[in-house]
Amino acid sequence: MDYISTRGSAPVLDFEGATLAGLASDGGLYLPRAWPRFTPEDIAAIRGLPYPELAARVMQPFVGSSIAPERLLELCRAAYGRFAHQAVTPLVQLDEQHWLLELFHGPTLAFKDVALQLLGLLFEEFLARSDAHLTIVGATSGDTGSAAIDAVAGRERIDIFMLHPEGRVSDVQRRQMTTVRAPNVHNIAIDGSFDDAQAHVKRMFGDPAMTGRFRISAVNSINWARLMAQVVYYFVAALQLGAPERKVAFAVPTGNFGDVFAGYVAHAMGLPVERLIVATNVNDILHRALSEGDYSAGTVTPTAAPSMDIQVSSNFERLLFDCGGRDGAALAAQMAGFEKTHAMRLTNAQRAGAAALFTSARADEAQMARAMRWAADRAGEAIDPHTAIGLHAARSADISRDVPVVTLATAHPAKFGDAVERATGIRPALPARIGDLFAREEAYTSLPGDYDAIAAFVAERATRSA
Ligand SMILES: *Cc1c(COP(=O)(O)O)cnc(C)c1O
Repeated sequence: MDYISTRGSAPVLDFEGATLAGLASDGGLYLPRAWPRFTPEDIAAIRGLPYPELAARVMQPFVGSSIAPERLLELCRAAYGRFAHQAVTPLVQLDEQHWLLELFHGPTLAFKDVALQLLGLLFEEFLARSDAHLTIVGATSGDTGSAAIDAVAGRERIDIFMLHPEGRVSDVQRRQMTTVRAPNVHNIAIDGSFDDAQAHVKRMFGDPAMTGRFRISAVNSINWARLMAQVVYYFVAALQLGAPERKVAFAVPTGNFGDVFAGYVAHAMGLPVERLIVATNVNDILHRALSEGDYSAGTVTPTAAPSMDIQVSSNFERLLFDCGGRDGAALAAQMAGFEKTHAMRLTNAQRAGAAALFTSARADEAQMARAMRWAADRAGEAIDPHTAIGLHAARSADISRDVPVVTLATAHPAKFGDAVERATGIRPALPARIGDLFAREEAYTSLPGDYDAIAAFVAERATRSA
């Protein structure tokens, strides 16, 4: 499978190249040249397979000849063997129409483990082939950081530098990153917001002084392989609810538009998806973009769902590219305008393309808390603030009664225990496997929100690739 950049001028790469590159050299994001198609018979044929087998079948067309099918299956078994639930992503019924897809049974209690446990193994596989070394630089609003660190801690060919906005991630999130003590793990707390941290990382990718010395890669959801791994659970859930004969809608708590874009890919591959409901908190750039065509960044308001406290949504570019006729030059110009003014209008083609599949909703803190109480009172389920925003959107969307609506449960409630307790009066317990988190010792470096200081810190500690 060939991968092309959304901005049209970076080299075409294979799956291995796109995975190791992360961001494309023209500033764009990699996408497959064409979507692989599954017929209804192909989809019915994978119903009931164990998760790792189903995952390997869904991902193989994207991987192409970069990894042999037997090897891909081995990697899936290793990645998903670390999950605490046999089903990996179990589906839980809330009422006649609504379901939760629990994506938080991995090592760090958020859905990001589903993609990153596999990505860590893919990196290792590819680096061993070329005897190379990789420097991962990432920015996290909380959950990516811990999931990425868990996925690569102790691996010889990888250094990881993870920036988080100081004081703006939960204690559990911070401790899940800073208590991992491995020589290749470097935690950096920066003065600023998540978007500031992300901007530093983006700048490093375009800084020849860094890219000339180190092989730098991303684990943010700009990395195609992550989105690919997330396509799988849309198939898993829809098959359980009657696909391919029956359509299913999904409500997705959204920040960087990665998780919900994976749903778009599943639909492009032939999965019968009725609607994708994009759920945002008050940081609602995506809701405004989808409902009014106005993609303009405001300032970030901190909320109880910090992993969605985002105003610039990297993966939205992939949707704009695909819906806007896949014109890399036009999109490069549109994005250059956005980078200058922090605002842009969607074209008519982009709006119409998006409207065919997506709707959106925004939840404020009161609506989020109400959704948490509804799940607790009506279904006996504790849900985290991110999932609650998804559930609010699911319940307020205009979906026919005979279509099941699956809300993606993106984090374990105990990861955001304070917010859950405030809303419901019940404090969810941390699962036994990470119960000693608050007894472990932390290590991280605080740096000012200054690019040169961050680059110098990375340059001093990273290993140069052979
Ligand atoms: C990362 C994250 C999100 C947002 O996912 P995107 O792929 O960035 O849209 C939602 N909920 C939780 C718990 C997360 O960690």
